[in-house]
Amino acid sequence: MEARSNLGPKPRLGYTDSRIDRAADRRPDAAAIAALAADHRARAYVMGGETIVLKKASPLNEALFSIAEARALGPMLETIFLGLIDGAARFGIGLPPQTAEALKARDDLLITDLRSIAVQSLTDPDHLPPIAEAKAVLHWHARHRFCAHCGAPTQVVDAGWRRDCPSCHAQHFPRTDPVAIMLAIDGERCLLGRSPRFAPTMWSCLAGFIEPGESIEDAVRRETLEETGIACGRVKYFASQPWPFPSSLMIGCHAEAVTRDIVVDHAELEDARWFSKDEVTAMLLRRHPDGLTTPPPLAIAHHIVRAWVKDEIGFD
Ligand SMILES: [Zn+2]
Repeated sequence: MEARSNLGPKPRLGYTDSRIDRAADRRPDAAAIAALAADHRARAYVMGGETIVLKKASPLNEALFSIAEARALGPMLETIFLGLIDGAARFGIGLPPQTAEALKARDDLLITDLRSIAVQSLTDPDHLPPIAEAKAVLHWHARHRFCAHCGAPTQVVDAGWRRDCPSCHAQHFPRTDPVAIMLAIDGERCLLGRSPRFAPTMWSCLAGFIEPGESIEDAVRRETLEETGIACGRVKYFASQPWPFPSSLMIGCHAEAVTRDIVVDHAELEDARWFSKDEVTAMLLRRHPDGLTTPPPLAIAHHIVRAWVKDEIGFD
C-alpha cells in the first residue's frame, strides 16, 4: 500500500499561470502595436499548424525569436499580439504548415508538436501558456478566413483578435470550446476510463464537450451516464485548463456517483472501471504492479485524481 501523503510537491498544471499581461486595450491601436513590434525587446513564438518552431539550445530549447529572426524563417500568415511581459511585447506568428515542416531540415531548429514539448519539457514551462494562446488563435484564423454569415473573405483586425466582414459587417471572434472533464466518486472508489487512443497502460477521467444550452454540471452528469451508465448527483468544480488541441477549455469537476453498475459505451470508451485510492496512488506515483498510469502531471486529469486521493474534495 502506498502512503498517500507521499505524493510529493504539487506539480504545475500545463498551459496555465501565464506571466503575460494580455493588454487587450492595446489591440485596437495598430500604430501602438507596430511600435511594440519594432521595439528591440519584442519577441515572437513561431508555429505552423500543429508544429511549433524552437531554437535548439542546452539544457532547454529556446521558444522565443526576435521579430527579424521570425521573418527570416519564411512567409508569415497572421501575427497575433499576445500581450506584454515586463513592458516587452510578445507575438504569435503563424507560418504555412508546409513552411514549418520544411524547417525540419535545419540543424539549428527543433520542429515538433506542442504535446511533445510539454510532456518532454523541451523548453521553459513558462513558455507553454503563451504558446497555447498563440496556437489556439492561429488555428482559429486558419479555419475562419471567410464570413460564416455571408461567405465573403474576412479581414484581420485588433492585432489578431477579431476578423471583420467587409461585406455584411459581421464581427467574428476566436472561439474556445468548453469541455467537462470529471471524476465520478463512490466513497473510497473513483471511476476511470480508457479511450482506445490512449497509451495501453493509461486510465483517465471521463470527458466530453459541453453542448449549447447546457450547464457544466448537467454536462458532467450526461457524459458520465452516456459513457459508463453511472448516474451522478452533486457536482463540484475543481479547476480549469486551456487545452490548445485545437482550442478547448477543460473544466475539471468531481461528481458524486449515485449508482454503481458500469455499462461501457464502447463507441466512446475501450473500458471503464472503479479504482481504489491505493491503486490510484500507485498509478500517480508510477508504481502500479501492472504498470497502469494516470495522465502526466501537466494534464488536469492528473490534478483532479490527485486532489481526490489527498482527500481535498468534499461534497457539501
Ligand atoms: Zn459577412
